[in-house]
Amino acid sequence: EVKMNGGNGAQAYNLDMYQRVQQRVLLEQDLKEALRLNQFSISFQPQMTIATGALSGFEALIRWHHPVRGMVSPDEFIPVLEQSKQIVPLGYWIIEACMQQCLSLLHSGWHNFRIAINLSAEQFVDPELIPTLKSLLDKYELQGSYFELELTERTLVQSIETMLTIMSQIKEMGIHFAIDDFGTGYSSLSYLKKMPMDCIKIDKSFLSGMLENAADFQIIASTIAMVQKLQLQVVAEGVETREQLELLRQQGCDIAQGYLIARPIPQPELAGFLEEHFPKGVWRGLK
Ligand code: C2E
Ligand code: MG
Ligand code: MG
Ligand code: MG
Repeated sequence: EVKMNGGNGAQAYNLDMYQRVQQRVLLEQDLKEALRLNQFSISFQPQMTIATGALSGFEALIRWHHPVRGMVSPDEFIPVLEQSKQIVPLGYWIIEACMQQCLSLLHSGWHNFRIAINLSAEQFVDPELIPTLKSLLDKYELQGSYFELELTERTLVQSIETMLTIMSQIKEMGIHFAIDDFGTGYSSLSYLKKMPMDCIKIDKSFLSGMLENAADFQIIASTIAMVQKLQLQVVAEGVETREQLELLRQQGCDIAQGYLIARPIPQPELAGFLEEHFPKGVWRGLK
């Protein structure tokens, strides 16, 4: 009996494993095609200065539209691209597209904004990163200060020497650094002290619980207080309701990003969206 049950369990497990491996192989194949056929695009999600309602910038978010699968979530395919290092060339394409979008915003009269670009650990340690950033800024004649690189705690596990060497050269170009998904990883807080960070993004998992869960609220409130004492900027991501926005304002949070203010907007629609939802540069929904 026991033996048989054990056997069945193992079989079910093997089948499950087999299906997962098979799905993964199919996903990898589809991603190779996607890179070849350029099935990727970028959406830009506006961010807002809470105190004034002014547009403060955008986060660039990759989108993959597969002819049969439809839209595939980056949470599903980015890890696959990271493992195969294909995120590196795709990442350069994303960075260049962000620079082009920056130029287009400047030409439309927008000035005080920053475009945040997600950077995987594989991209951060790629030896071409620094020369490529330099030559792209040159090519488009742009100041680095229009851009911010979002690192996760996965990147921050590099040695402090490696981190500082790479970061200081990028900071020399005027580019800012943010820590993404703050509070969800394993790293210690000491990197806030040791590394030249400009901004902290509070993970949306804390936002979703902040109205009902006292612990989530306290974590947000004390993160905001700490980050401000360190004189860094603090962004709350995943802001979906006015109550959340109001509490963030009371706690002194600098910037909000979330569906309440704007969803990620496909690049071709961005200019029109901003005109409609941020007349004179200020969020229409502000009361
Ligand atoms: P992330 O960098 O933390 O990005 C924020 C995610 O929260 C995005 O998911 C965004 O669409 C979503 N979001 C924004 N506001 C709200 C809200 O109010 N409610 C909810 N429920 N969600 C909200 P998305 O676009 O699916 O991206 C998922 C993750 O994939 C990103 O998390 C990032 O880690 C990664 N990713 C996306 N684009 C890129 C990229 O260009 N390069 C790299 N390396 N990673 C990327
Ligand atoms: Mg991000
Ligand atoms: Mg995040
Ligand atoms: Mg995330």
